[in-house]
Amino acid sequence: METNLDSNKGTLAALAELHAGYTMKEAIDEAKRCLNCKNPLCVQGCPIEHKIPEWIHQLSKGNIGGAMELLNEKSNLPAICGRVCPHEKQCEGHCILNKKGNPVRVGKLERFIADFDSEMGLSKERLKAKTRGKVAVIGSGPAGLTVAGDLARDGFNVTVFESQKEPGGVLLYGIPEYRLPNEITRREVKKIEALGVTFRNNCVVGEGITVDAMFSEEDFDAVFIGSGTALPQTLSIKGDNLYGVAQSAYFLRMVSLFASDDIPRTEVPLKIGEKVAVIGAGNVAMDTARTALRMGAESVTLIYRRKEEDMPALRSEFLEAQNEGVQFMWESSTQELIGEEVNGKQKLVRMRIETPAGEVTIPMDRVYLAVGSKPANRIVSTTLGIEVNEKGYITTSEYPYGMTTRRGVFAGGDVVHTPQTVVLAMREAKKVAVGIAQYVDAIKLLGVKSYE
Ligand SMILES: Cc1cc2nc3c(=O)[nH]c(=O)nc-3n(C[C@H](O)[C@H](O)[C@H](O)COP(=O)(O)OP(=O)(O)OC[C@H]3O[C@@H](n4cnc5c(N)ncnc54)[C@H](O)[C@@H]3O)c2cc1C
Repeated sequence: METNLDSNKGTLAALAELHAGYTMKEAIDEAKRCLNCKNPLCVQGCPIEHKIPEWIHQLSKGNIGGAMELLNEKSNLPAICGRVCPHEKQCEGHCILNKKGNPVRVGKLERFIADFDSEMGLSKERLKAKTRGKVAVIGSGPAGLTVAGDLARDGFNVTVFESQKEPGGVLLYGIPEYRLPNEITRREVKKIEALGVTFRNNCVVGEGITVDAMFSEEDFDAVFIGSGTALPQTLSIKGDNLYGVAQSAYFLRMVSLFASDDIPRTEVPLKIGEKVAVIGAGNVAMDTARTALRMGAESVTLIYRRKEEDMPALRSEFLEAQNEGVQFMWESSTQELIGEEVNGKQKLVRMRIETPAGEVTIPMDRVYLAVGSKPANRIVSTTLGIEVNEKGYITTSEYPYGMTTRRGVFAGGDVVHTPQTVVLAMREAKKVAVGIAQYVDAIKLLGVKSYE
């Protein structure tokens, strides 16, 4: 398989995008394989019901502008979905040609069209005047970007409030560079900016500004919360506060900052030649393990308390991790992290693990926890009247779609639906954007304000 790993370990080059895109000829040849089924199962398999056969048909004729127009109808983030959607479960998994194990590579085709369109600057959208109302969007992950893009296209004035210094959410700080280069996310954000959306970065809602102030001081008609699940879950085991133990999210974020030249390599919490363990077996754990290898770990072992068949990660992610040299310990649970004093710090040196063959104690330099995440409560705790469920996820209504228990405040994406996928956050956000438009149109008609 393709790999950037061998000679580049520990350097930026090791993070370069793993899978190459299509050339024009390859893309058109692949597009011509589409059977243009009467009842296209690929569309049924796509959470946002992309008009897949239609844009593939345009591509097969070389009409990339036409294909892009069709993509834009359903998605604000095609270059991203083309790279990170679980296509094997969605469009490609449903493709009739998959029955023979060779589906049309819908994801790669979507990526080709979006990349080509951006690189050539092909499509220029005609913008509507922003006359329908003013909407604040909190968070610029896939949910926030989708709401912002859809509402801006529909004539709303949209401002996105983002706590980080750059928009993108998990797309930028979570999903590693070798699967989704930061430049691709930046490019998609720029396209949303070009629709007339304003971004206010370094703006933590619940600290500098509150939802109430957005209504009363800034005169927004509606607020959308798409703040994701920023709080990593912890494991209560002895030694979890040792130097050398960190959250996967923190490690991935530091690597992303290094890849963007924002921090030096020395600030990435992993030294070349270290032994690494990752606890968990979801996609975040796979990303952490594979990134650790790229950053120069001598060995990476993924430890999971259940069986291989119970692993939540995509099969393709697991196979790639295995190919790259990640080792796996199934049905194994970490009992204790053991430290020793090194240069005045209590540093991790070993871990004690219960395995099916009995207890083992193995040397370890780093442990990253990838055992899930949940919503932070900063926004909810500083806003009156937003109900959450027992796990902290925001409760929303069916009509108008996505409104919370506070009038005029909407929510969507992972902060409502638990950690899922980019396209599922987008699907919900698209429905919420419709709910927000209906709500704002209604209050304008009635001549009332959200906070009255
Ligand atoms: C490491 C990792 C890898 C993943 N890989 C994939 C993949 O390959 N394919 C896939 O489909 N899905 C993947 N996912 C899941 C996917 O990224 C998420 O489901 C998706 O990003 C959720 O979108 P969201 O917009 O709801 O939240 P997020 O993307 O989390 O965005 C939330 C945004 O809100 C901002 N924010 C939070 N609080 C505040 C505040 N108080 N004020 C202002 N801003 C705030 C955050 O900074 C962030 O920008 C992955 C997730 C992780 C963590």
